Amino acid sequence: MIYLDNNATTKVHPEVFEAMEPFLKDEFGNPSTGYDLGKNSNEAVTQARNQVAQLINSKAEEIIFTSCGTESDNTAIFSALKNNSEKRHIVTTSVEHSAIILFAQSMMPDIEITELPVNNDGLIELNDLRDAIREDTALVTIMWANNETGICQDIYEAAKITHAKNSLFHTDAVNAVGKISIDVSKGPIDFLSISGHKFHAPKGVGALFVRAGAPFSPFFIGGGQENGKRAGTEAVAQVIGLGTAAELAKNRLLSGGEEKLAILRDRLENNIISSIDGVQQNGCPKHRLPNTSHLSFENIDAGDLLILTNEKGLCIASGSACSTGKREPSRIMTAMGHNDQRALSSVRLSVSSMNNEEEIDNASKIIISCVEKLRSLNPTDGGPVIFG
Ligand code: PLP
Repeated sequence: MIYLDNNATTKVHPEVFEAMEPFLKDEFGNPSTGYDLGKNSNEAVTQARNQVAQLINSKAEEIIFTSCGTESDNTAIFSALKNNSEKRHIVTTSVEHSAIILFAQSMMPDIEITELPVNNDGLIELNDLRDAIREDTALVTIMWANNETGICQDIYEAAKITHAKNSLFHTDAVNAVGKISIDVSKGPIDFLSISGHKFHAPKGVGALFVRAGAPFSPFFIGGGQENGKRAGTEAVAQVIGLGTAAELAKNRLLSGGEEKLAILRDRLENNIISSIDGVQQNGCPKHRLPNTSHLSFENIDAGDLLILTNEKGLCIASGSACSTGKREPSRIMTAMGHNDQRALSSVRLSVSSMNNEEEIDNASKIIISCVEKLRSLNPTDGGPVIFG
């Protein structure tokens, strides 16, 4: 099996598993208790908080552990609206994850939402952001990197624009953290969402960075865990997994991790583009995650391609969703102005530091042969004729 869907989730790193294991066995103490067993858990959670903080250059006390990226996103929006009952407006983008869009929409009609459009490259215009922020804007929330295309927005600049207009700034950095270097001291970011399973920690653990001094209201209320900012007994083993994964990611980034990912991604992309015609890369080639390639294949239905590549043991993704037997184009591709045909023929290839060149070359061969096979079966319009 070759796994090239690392924006969906990643494999738990062996060192992460090793660090977690004792806390799933004998080290089962509740970190809030006073005896040694509990203190061991507490100390391990403190260490994990430091490790996550170091990954984004924040202070340890600015990190709250959560259950996932979705909870972090929901919390940031909830908190910004709860804190200021006068401000009932949110600015976001048309390409956010549903953890942002659907949660914000769930608060309508009490709040208004402005969705900034993206251009053909998948980028917002910063002037649109300047124009969209109003006196009653409680929060601007803009994703750092799009999960589908990998396109990265200029988050430091967006945060500066937002603060100059007296609004709070949140970024969903779930698909960026661990892949590119992030430094929260470079811009006035108030909230930043993290999810462990995107960088080799287990699923079901995340974090929310809350800048010291930023107004904050907890989403989970109960015991006083996380300094009163997120109630619930800490998921100690998961948190330790997140901390360990953060330290490993930091070390990778310090030793040229971004370039190493880009070398694998570019090799994959070049192998494919140099071997077959009618392949288009989607989104700005410069402002994208180093691990992500989003390609459209003329006269190919991405759903059919995924069925064939899966049969050959290759895991890749398409943005299209299948509803009532008909494939719907990805809303991200539509927001970027691409027509249905280009959207329905697009796939996402996302590598990680656990991939190697041999896998990349084998994956390229599989994709090329599957595209050629589909084109030979359906040389004209690319509709889903055989595999549905
Ligand atoms: N935001 C982005 C950009 C994502 O890619 C994801 C996961 O796919 C999420 C939020 C949700 O994260 P989680 O799966 O940890 O809830």
